[in-house]
Amino acid sequence: MKQIVLVCMLLASFVASGQVKVISDNTEGAIRAAAELRRFLAMNGNDRHLAGTIHVGDTPLLRARYAPQVERLKDDGFLICGDGREVCLYGLGERGTLYAVYALLERLGYRLYTPDALVVPGHAGFALPNSELVENPAFAYRETLYYYPNHSELYANWHRLHNRADLHRQWGMFVHTFQHLIPESRYYDAHPEWFSMREGRRDRDGQLCLSNGEMLEELCRRLADTMSRRPEATIWSVSNNDNYNACQCAPCLRLDSLYGGPTGTLLHFINQVAARFPDKTISTLAYQYTRSAPNNQIVPIKPAPNVNIMLCPIEAGREASIATSPREASFRKDMVDWGRLTDNIFIWDYVVQFRNFWNPFPNLHVLQPNLQFFRNNGVRLMFEQATGQDNITSWMDIRCYMLAKLMWNPDMDMDSVMDDFFRGYYGPAAPMVRRIIDTMTAALTASGRTLNIYGYPVDGADGYLSPQRMLRYDLAMQSANSVAPDSAIRERLRYFELALDFATVELMATGKMKGTPEQLTARLRRMTADLNRFGVAQMMEMGISPDEYQRQMLHFVEKQQGSLKPKRLIYKDEPSAPYNTASLIDRRAGIMDYRTDWVGFWGDTLKAVLTLGSAPVEVQSVSMDFFFYPLSWIFLPQRVAMDVSDDGRQWRRVGEWHPENPEILATPDIKTFRAEVKGTARYIRVVADPLPEIPAWHRAAGQKAWIFTDEIVVK
Ligand SMILES: [Zn+2]
Repeated sequence: MKQIVLVCMLLASFVASGQVKVISDNTEGAIRAAAELRRFLAMNGNDRHLAGTIHVGDTPLLRARYAPQVERLKDDGFLICGDGREVCLYGLGERGTLYAVYALLERLGYRLYTPDALVVPGHAGFALPNSELVENPAFAYRETLYYYPNHSELYANWHRLHNRADLHRQWGMFVHTFQHLIPESRYYDAHPEWFSMREGRRDRDGQLCLSNGEMLEELCRRLADTMSRRPEATIWSVSNNDNYNACQCAPCLRLDSLYGGPTGTLLHFINQVAARFPDKTISTLAYQYTRSAPNNQIVPIKPAPNVNIMLCPIEAGREASIATSPREASFRKDMVDWGRLTDNIFIWDYVVQFRNFWNPFPNLHVLQPNLQFFRNNGVRLMFEQATGQDNITSWMDIRCYMLAKLMWNPDMDMDSVMDDFFRGYYGPAAPMVRRIIDTMTAALTASGRTLNIYGYPVDGADGYLSPQRMLRYDLAMQSANSVAPDSAIRERLRYFELALDFATVELMATGKMKGTPEQLTARLRRMTADLNRFGVAQMMEMGISPDEYQRQMLHFVEKQQGSLKPKRLIYKDEPSAPYNTASLIDRRAGIMDYRTDWVGFWGDTLKAVLTLGSAPVEVQSVSMDFFFYPLSWIFLPQRVAMDVSDDGRQWRRVGEWHPENPEILATPDIKTFRAEVKGTARYIRVVADPLPEIPAWHRAAGQKAWIFTDEIVVK
């Protein structure tokens, strides 16, 4: 072999230098990869500074020299093998060879930090590699559900990411599919017994009754029908809906006890489905109440070979690694337990903050150890749930970049890749941005708090988003801007800063940070304008556009301004714990987070009398806001009434409403009820009746409903 290499090197030395040649095999993939390589090498005239020949795809040279290296490839792995003059680029699967092309470009100094941030090196002294590089991915499937890989094919391919198009091609149905296979709208009325039994009644909006043989038949019939329309799809999800309401009928409970709990019952059901479709993979969810592998079974059960287990650490904190955090012992156990039962595991992990896409979310330090942990426990398919394919969100540039690199190789040198990103992307401003992220991470760790994917800035107010630290971040941004050499870098800094704007607005609004209404409003308006300019569509998982967010925040500011300060408020019945600490007359309104500055009543009528002073005063209006968020069982009252009185005996009704509760589960809203008084009053009486029970369309139908209000605003 050594001799052959020597001969080839001698031959190669006769190739004219000064212009690199790119040749390929004649398959479509290799031709495309070669064209892509030529396109990039031509940038800045770099191809003139390279000498030699690049052989792309399955070429004679590859077979002659590098057959043993080809043998070592798996999944969509690739190789870059050459002697400095003749180089082979080759990879497996649809895109492996293309990956080799981009990997070579990276070795030459090219970078694609974001779809708009391509760095093309431009200098002489380039050389083709003299090395034998073989790279295989740690995970066969690598998706991060983010904007970039779905809106830029170049970005997805450069960073070896799968995207929604890949997923839709492979997957016939994807997660939470009980509701699609056996929709309640179609089956509930005729077959309530197919649905989960909870507290003596069959739930429309729960799970399926997995011991019901008739339902199994119908589900398989519908699945076969759907499969016949998508024969190319190889993986089909048959999986629980997104709630905890497993069936508690007697036969299901008996299966639970035989198979070691609801996960065992689910597997018993799924294995039966999988047996009908031996040439497909049936995927199911280890999620929430089915997250743990079955244990203490009387009858042993494990997933059939063509069953895929999708395991979701949704509950995990993001402040520390799942592999070592004392808080994550239970998920750790589940991961190891599942790893013993099957090697067909898909991990659905979470890497962003859902409730508030723009909250600074310092989780970069846990990405690497988490991916190492998954890889070490036999996970083959990796899905990193980010903010969705159409949402532009905070820290997306850096986080998406790091995730892509880590999913390919969780053992890479994270620090040097981050340094490279910051230097290349922010130029001279890199140290300031890096310092902000590092400070947040250190402060979060020191605070001992969890970093929750459903969190708010206020959760970090005594830690990584404390007022002193926020001030330091602002100063760091100022110095970053002062050294930014061009508008491209200034735009990237501004994009980064938007997360600080959001935190500032929220912290000022919740009183965790000092700021006048004018300061809050100015920061808010500046943020909204730039969010819109960057094309941001929504601020949180459940919707809310920047304009809608601004509207609500301006309403919040407005209702605190110019209101009277009442003397005293007496409730007939006290609010319900734990939402009983805020005051309705402190002129502190609540933001779009019912946990902060809101008062809740669970099933009870809110009845309160407010004393304005020792004598009647001129009153223009009385208004109250009510929170609407059925996901957390919070509904508008069925009736709101307001009365005024000068003496506490004679009352005058100034407003009464009977609001509708729309059937919207998960988009929070705030509704205002304002009565014009235009007269005098010493006392104000407000009454708000909750719904008698949670309505039938909701999965908690029949339970007590919450009402939430934040302030009785008297002007
Ligand atoms: Zn049942």
